[in-house]
Amino acid sequence: MQTRYPIVALVGRPNVGKSSLFNRFSKHRKAIVDPTPGVTRDRHYEQVTIEERTFILVDTGGIEGDGREMMAGLIREQTMQAMREADVILFLLDGKEGVLPEDFEVADYLRRTEKPVHFLVNKVDSPELEQRLIPPFYELGVDTLWPVSAAHGYGVKPFFEALLETLPVFPESEDIPPDTISLACLGRPNVGKSSLINRLLGEERMVVSDVPGTTRDSVDTLLTVGKQPYLLIDTAGIRRKGKVQEKLEKFSVLQALGALERCDVVLILIDAGEGITEQDTKVLGYAFERGRACMILVNKWDLLHGDAKRQKQLMEEIARATSFVEYAPVLKISALTGAGVKQLLPTVAKIYKQYCGSFSTGKLNRILQDALEGHNPTMHQGRRLKFYYTTQISTKPPTFIIFTNYPKGVHFSYLRYLLNQFRAGLKLDSIPIKIILKERQ
Ligand code: GDP
Repeated sequence: MQTRYPIVALVGRPNVGKSSLFNRFSKHRKAIVDPTPGVTRDRHYEQVTIEERTFILVDTGGIEGDGREMMAGLIREQTMQAMREADVILFLLDGKEGVLPEDFEVADYLRRTEKPVHFLVNKVDSPELEQRLIPPFYELGVDTLWPVSAAHGYGVKPFFEALLETLPVFPESEDIPPDTISLACLGRPNVGKSSLINRLLGEERMVVSDVPGTTRDSVDTLLTVGKQPYLLIDTAGIRRKGKVQEKLEKFSVLQALGALERCDVVLILIDAGEGITEQDTKVLGYAFERGRACMILVNKWDLLHGDAKRQKQLMEEIARATSFVEYAPVLKISALTGAGVKQLLPTVAKIYKQYCGSFSTGKLNRILQDALEGHNPTMHQGRRLKFYYTTQISTKPPTFIIFTNYPKGVHFSYLRYLLNQFRAGLKLDSIPIKIILKERQ
């Protein structure tokens, strides 16, 4: 199984039809197995599987613009970000509007990247329109244009085929030992990411080396404590950030999604002085949906020194806002003083061990039997629900399949119960686990 999916970014002016195209892709989205409440689904990114190739599609306009459409001038920024963070770029143009000067500008930018770029001309829904509307777009100097109608589906299939051919497959890097734990350190600007990383690198007795990251100017850090290698994924060049860049840095969802694709454990930093924000829970929501293990780091704990009331209040706030990942360990730290930082990597190692956990079918079926005996599933519309057997189908996170006569009849609360029984029986208290119900008569 591929551990990392490519990120495909959709860029284009407002109103060219990005959301329609996005919705067309969404028909191929992977069904969400775990309908946990509390996670707001963001309609601007989606895990898509076409002909067994899976990728993450991101509508950069929607996602970076915080729901609002991007102002026309910002398309440059959007494009640059996609060039840095995505693996494949789709540039959507408007066939009805024709070629605008800023389209030339974007096309110029896109020529600088070595990543695959597809130019799509939208709102073209017949061969006649194609003949009439497409030729001017060749002035952009591109070899291949894809006439499509996102709304009606015209031209979409051949384009999908071309897209699949350009999706990269990621081989494991030879510089990185196979048992390495990959960590992504995420959080809003100024929450203390670089301070924490520098502190970590200084604190432990460890061997540190740089390995090239996935984007041109990013460098991941490989560090080894004892025998355990860890890879710190570089997001936004957190280690080498200068003062100027500090001011410019803004929270980038595309970047967060990219880092999530590459990591095993997500460290999400929360600023103790400011409390938990919507952006923090959003990132945790992404981590949850992607099935990543996570750890919540409450940084700048020193700011609350001696203020027991605020400390308690903050921890309650965090618990409430992150209840959908209640398994995620929470650690209070101060990157400034170093307090709590020593416990970080040992906790990560513990989480990772659970994350890779693999269990015999015999053991799993005993847990299932005990669970069924402990609490019978209710009838569904007069039909008795039967659970036959279970087996593990993957790790990272541990994922189990349970065969039942009527998956749709299993109530959410019963699935929740089974999840908890598996969690307890397998001693997986710090990570997400998944159960997939499959029909068998
Ligand atoms: P980044 O943008 O997330 O990488 O954040 P930085 O590491 O650059 O930190 C932003 C600011 O917060 C800097 O002024 C740090 O000195 C400060 N800071 C970081 N960690 C702590 C902490 O634990 N306590 C306090 N009081 N300040 C911190």
